Amino acid sequence: MKVGFVNIFGKPNAGKSTLLNALMEEKLAIVSPKVQTTRHRIKGILTENEYQIVFSDTPGIIEPKYKLHEKMMDAVKNSLEDADVALLIVDVNEDLQECDAIFSALKLKVPAIVVINKIDRASQEKIKEAVDFFSGKSYCKRSVTISATSGINKKKFINAVLEFLPEGEPFFDGEDISDLQTRFFVAELVREKIFELFGDEIPYQATVVVNEFKEKNTLTKIAADIIVQRESQKAIILGEGGKMIKRLGTESRKSIENFLQQKIFLELFVKVRDKWRDNDTWLKEYGYH
Ligand code: GDP
Ligand code: MG
Repeated sequence: MKVGFVNIFGKPNAGKSTLLNALMEEKLAIVSPKVQTTRHRIKGILTENEYQIVFSDTPGIIEPKYKLHEKMMDAVKNSLEDADVALLIVDVNEDLQECDAIFSALKLKVPAIVVINKIDRASQEKIKEAVDFFSGKSYCKRSVTISATSGINKKKFINAVLEFLPEGEPFFDGEDISDLQTRFFVAELVREKIFELFGDEIPYQATVVVNEFKEKNTLTKIAADIIVQRESQKAIILGEGGKMIKRLGTESRKSIENFLQQKIFLELFVKVRDKWRDNDTWLKEYGYH
């Protein structure tokens, strides 16, 4: 059996979360057209008779402007070094030179597969240009072209990954799709709704913590805190007469029920924590280790 660890890396919006979701055929990482929605390392475990591949999604590359961002950068570096192979994913329509500059700067010790994504949105010439461009780079041990959204070349892609994995015993039970707690995914689903429902500022100022997760016979009770930095942000999330929080609650509930495949009862609370993003203790409490 081929067994190993694979890390997915690339600029924001390259399609890392989408690729992971497509591979796992489950909604594991949240997907959003806005950048920086993936703050944590998310692992998906793909187990078949012939292989077990453990995937990590990494946050996009961002400036260490806040402490939070420094931690995100640490997560990127850590995750890239402890894998059998790194997937450097690029949007085929992006500035390839710029992607190359970032990939080169990583000075990877692990072999890398350059994954050229979104080929459903590019001409054959453009795709060939990207393949030719990356195949000359020293970090690029292999390149594959895919479309994460439409699943084009998924098999080819998996076979390319398997070339780099050692033989071994599986690390995880076949039943596990992820070693992360369901709570975490639930919090991510609420955060995804915050991205959808609120303007530019709010999503980056808010985090979600699931405090209660009680499974009863037919219903799971979930309570979550939405942490913001200012009273004014709390007011926006609540909305006039609680209109927005109600909507957020309804939409989050549907999304969570869809993920868990069971009925839930969801309670959301909004809490103000001044400058949580610059506070080490809170960052730890909210799961940014
Ligand atoms: P991440 O920031 O790298 O995790 O990127 P996401 O997975 O969140 O994807 C960013 C955006 O690109 C989303 O709107 C996706 O739907 C879109 N996207 C990802 N892969 C593809 C693809 O293969 N084709 C097309 N057309 N869009 C894609
Ligand atoms: Mg992502």
